[in-house]
Amino acid sequence: MSKTDLKKWVRPHILQMKPYAAARLEFEGPASVFLDANENPYGSVSGGSYNRYPDPLQVAVKAKLAELQGLCPDQIFLGNGSDECIDLLIRIGCEPGKDSVLYCPPVFSMYEHAAKASNVGVEEVLLEPETFQLDVPAVLKRIRENENIRILFLCSPNNPTGNLIRVQDIETLLREFPGIVLIDEAYQDFTDAPSWIKRLGEFNNLAVIQTFSKSWGMANARLGMLYADPELVHFLNTIKMPYNVNEHTQQVILQALEHPDKRDAFVRAMNAERVNLEAELDQLPLVIKRYPTDANYILFKVAEADKLYEHLVQHGVIVRNRNKAPLCSGCLRVSVGNREENEKFLNALKNFKPG
Ligand SMILES: *Cc1c(COP(=O)(O)O)cnc(C)c1O
Repeated sequence: MSKTDLKKWVRPHILQMKPYAAARLEFEGPASVFLDANENPYGSVSGGSYNRYPDPLQVAVKAKLAELQGLCPDQIFLGNGSDECIDLLIRIGCEPGKDSVLYCPPVFSMYEHAAKASNVGVEEVLLEPETFQLDVPAVLKRIRENENIRILFLCSPNNPTGNLIRVQDIETLLREFPGIVLIDEAYQDFTDAPSWIKRLGEFNNLAVIQTFSKSWGMANARLGMLYADPELVHFLNTIKMPYNVNEHTQQVILQALEHPDKRDAFVRAMNAERVNLEAELDQLPLVIKRYPTDANYILFKVAEADKLYEHLVQHGVIVRNRNKAPLCSGCLRVSVGNREENEKFLNALKNFKPG
């Protein structure tokens, strides 16, 4: 069992802080007259009822989510998208102008973006070419050279490459790295591999991010979750904006949580379309390499990525051009669409005249 001293990890000034005292958290017991938050008692100009502040700690959503995930509510932090969770984690652990985070490109660009927005340093150790697995010795070397690295960001399945990161490598880093290891599982629902949330009890320096934006089909509601040791969750709650998840979002997420079977059906449909798309890509001479994926997108390599990207745009089909990402030269990333969208994409590919 790894034991990180989270009180030493968190920035000292946060240890001194109390969570913001939201009006509605100041009392206990039943109440029906709320004259504590200077709200408009009549209603909302827009119609609908938006006049009351939302639950700052999203108690109902966390209770339901805890049940679904087999966790305790105090292991759950909810953010305005997982982007907010990433930003807050950096802000509780990294001293601007001094500390750094480490991530392994090619990877989701939000870790770099959020670190830089907070004037936190970024250390990059490339993944292994082609397999896109971690270069563990290089990561270990880097964390030993720079004691100011506070957070290690891993993404599994990895965006944009699609592969899962080897379990054994993550275990090594959880044991060897004294800071927080964050595993971004935005695409977890698309794979059969077990989630790292099952192992939160073993490692108190493990944090796992998931989101409602992909498999649940709720990107617009903006809800991301960070699962971690209750002590770490407490620090996140301490500095978050009091009403970071609005009531409309909490209500639609509660409705969604009644139907995880619908999510599973979406996942099955997307995975079936993915298999189909993979087979089609493998038939095209244009495609030099198609990478295996555990997510709802496929990375593939062509001779003229920029030209193909433009060709697809001309046909009204937008994919992600990853040609300039490290180790991804010649690569485009296509999200798995519905049957009709995938057909349009494949037809546009077939029309491409190279050279
Ligand atoms: C899409 C995605 C997210 C989700 O971000 P939200 O802010 O929750 O929408 C997180 N991580 C990765 C790697 C992603 O691709």
